Amino acid sequence: MKKSVLITGGAGFIGSHLCEKLLNEGYTVICLDNFITGNLENIKPFIRHKNFRFDVHNVSYYIDIPGRVDYVLHCASLASPVDYLDFPIQTLKVGSLGTHNALGLAKKKKAVFLLFSTSEVYGDPLVHPQKESYWGHVNCVGVRGCYDESKRFAEALTMAYHRVHSLDTKIARIFNTYGPKMRAHDGRVVPNFIFQALRNKPLTVYGKGRQTRSFCYIDDMVEGIYRLMLSKTNMPVNLGNPGEFTVMQLAKLVLKFSGSKSRIAFRPLPEDDPRQRRPDISLARKIISWKPAISLEEGLRRTIPWFKA
Ligand code: UDP
Repeated sequence: MKKSVLITGGAGFIGSHLCEKLLNEGYTVICLDNFITGNLENIKPFIRHKNFRFDVHNVSYYIDIPGRVDYVLHCASLASPVDYLDFPIQTLKVGSLGTHNALGLAKKKKAVFLLFSTSEVYGDPLVHPQKESYWGHVNCVGVRGCYDESKRFAEALTMAYHRVHSLDTKIARIFNTYGPKMRAHDGRVVPNFIFQALRNKPLTVYGKGRQTRSFCYIDDMVEGIYRLMLSKTNMPVNLGNPGEFTVMQLAKLVLKFSGSKSRIAFRPLPEDDPRQRRPDISLARKIISWKPAISLEEGLRRTIPWFKA
């Protein structure tokens, strides 16, 4: 019998790619989304697939799913800084109440639970690169606190369900990820730069562009999440591409691969913007034999044409 997977936030960027992967692997997929940042277009290619089911639901409210569920993947989240600044309360609710409801469902169904956590749990890190053992450096009352703290709470709740109810839980700490199906107005740096470059508008570099990020192509991320879902581990695992680039280097790469004549326009650095970020992925390499295969250059070559189209 086919295994059944419930994905919250399944019409979002990462969620919709994962739905597609799971359908291809032969799973039955139940997708929930309230479209606060998700997009129906993302699931259109497989919406009529015989093993795909979709409900409009805000998972900060009780989740009622009839029948069998073998895996609960809690992906629903407002993951772009622009979105969580616009919707801080919804961000806190989906990370706390949404995680509680998704865990409750997993417990009822005796399902494996996977939390989509984030490198933001490390805040503006004082340790570099970031290992899972690092506790982080987060300003809980700053503007990014709503996201960071909701995910830190979500991790704590997940571990409590694991310890108290013996639920088989996994935590993926996801670093910056990009690729097709991101919204043009998502606000995150890769879609912003590509969208601006394709329109020959100035690329908005925040601060001096010296802050660093590590950018993982979506196909690599989906493979990592899938392997983690099937793994035996219950402790958090970093998933991300360890290649580290300054925002300025990224801007130059986007200009090169899009052939754009855009100039760079410097804008103020947002409050609490982390100065550096790079995953240590030794744990993922060891326990799920995973490492990204697609370089930033190759990923941009694949992503830019999608935005063009
Ligand atoms: N950034 C930028 N220009 C933009 C959007 C973002 O320089 O138009 C910077 C932002 O200040 C941050 C980095 O790019 O240092 C990554 O930002 P993003 O919003 O993608 O995600 P974050 O990693 O901060 O969660």
